[in-house]
Amino acid sequence: MATVAKPTTPLRPLGAPPMVPRIAPREDLNPFRIAQMQFDMAAEFLKLDQGLRQILRTPKRVLEVSIPTKMDNGQVKLLMGYRVQHNMARGPAKGGVRFHPNITLDEIKALASAMTWKTAAVNIPFGGAKGGVICDPKRMSKSELERMTRRYASEILPFIGPDQDIPAPDIYTDAQTMAWMMDTYAMTTGRASHAVVTGKPMSIGGSAGSAEATAQGLVHVVEEACKLKKISLRGATIAIQGFGNAGATAARLFADKKAKIVALSDTRGGVTNPRGIDPLKAFRYKERAGTVVGMPGASRISNDDLLTMKCDILVPAALENVITLQNADAIKARIVAEASNGPTTPHADEILARRGVIVLPDILTNAGGVTVSYFEWVQNQQGLVWDAEEVTARLQKTIVRAFHEMVETMRKHHVPPRAGAMILAVNRVAEATLVRGLFP
Ligand code: NAD
Repeated sequence: MATVAKPTTPLRPLGAPPMVPRIAPREDLNPFRIAQMQFDMAAEFLKLDQGLRQILRTPKRVLEVSIPTKMDNGQVKLLMGYRVQHNMARGPAKGGVRFHPNITLDEIKALASAMTWKTAAVNIPFGGAKGGVICDPKRMSKSELERMTRRYASEILPFIGPDQDIPAPDIYTDAQTMAWMMDTYAMTTGRASHAVVTGKPMSIGGSAGSAEATAQGLVHVVEEACKLKKISLRGATIAIQGFGNAGATAARLFADKKAKIVALSDTRGGVTNPRGIDPLKAFRYKERAGTVVGMPGASRISNDDLLTMKCDILVPAALENVITLQNADAIKARIVAEASNGPTTPHADEILARRGVIVLPDILTNAGGVTVSYFEWVQNQQGLVWDAEEVTARLQKTIVRAFHEMVETMRKHHVPPRAGAMILAVNRVAEATLVRGLFP
């Protein structure tokens, strides 16, 4: 294998018209092929050897498990689940577990590879993994969910562990899910290994600051980008699609910075007010009504119109593939800050870059969560308990450093932020792979 090339080119300011690799004219929305396309672009810039490319673009291990689950009515339902370990060159694999009826293996593979690049982009000593169970958690009782989670944990148990692969919560899984997984691991192995999962309740080794970590990391990235682009966050208008853990917390943190939240949305639609929406009032309204739609003092807006409305910063915090070939030309935001995984397709990326819209990429922008997961693992491994102040200070340092490393890489290679973050990350994983050598 060849060594990793480190080309040097002149400095280029953030947001300057970038060199964007050409992509095929038809839009392919398969998540794993998109992930591989993004990797190929970075590999091309780094002039990686073909053999090394094959290793890095392919998951190391794909596990499919069947999960027989006894339902409350006494019947047994056979559910299917996955755990994909994409890469472990830089450390144990790390990634969430999602429960959702529409999960596909390609989606899990894509998310596992995104975790490899995410942990490398922020330079924490982990690889990438992701898991999921095809189920409808909204239609399952708590005891059904517990039995399913424990059986899933038991099926993937030979492949997880504090030094192997460390699951965490993701869509429709939470601290309780992690507690069941940790307990299943402890009961089966006879080891009180808190560090086998992260995102646990505080009573069993969870970390302070984990609930806000993703949104906090996003706000740090946006703040740094605003500084470079000389945009004042104070008074900046922000539209957020998705008012869940990431979106609602980001809305609150942005409002604390005196930014103006001009639109919010959830599955049922959105609300807008050019004079600003109080995220706390929206949160309380959603708690009562189950949606932000209909909250007093704001008019209705569709999820599609929210994406293309006039604002300074657009935060997709719900689904993947929402900014596409169809609407990229209509996006009016100056900055798109990706809270969700994969909200922008490669075609849309190309259009936005050409139009000078800064897309702050998911692998950096939503990496606050995995960073604090790493802090939780470190605390568990060392028997330490850090307070919220220590966790937030360490998070800020990690994310701000990673942001500036991304900017440096963008300037070296004349590329937009996503390519900068990918080149930075892929280079780190390539270096680790090369220095370790090929087994056997
Ligand atoms: P969540 O389930 O708490 O919230 C998702 C929100 O999106 C909800 O308000 C939901 O109503 C809304 N939504 C769902 N479908 C929608 C649609 N079709 N249109 C508009 N809104 C819709 O999830 P979350 O934890 O906030 O995660 C959101 C995204 O961020 C996901 O892509 C997730 O993978 C990513 N992410 C989250 C974290 C984290 O720590 N929470 C970390 C990294 C990445």
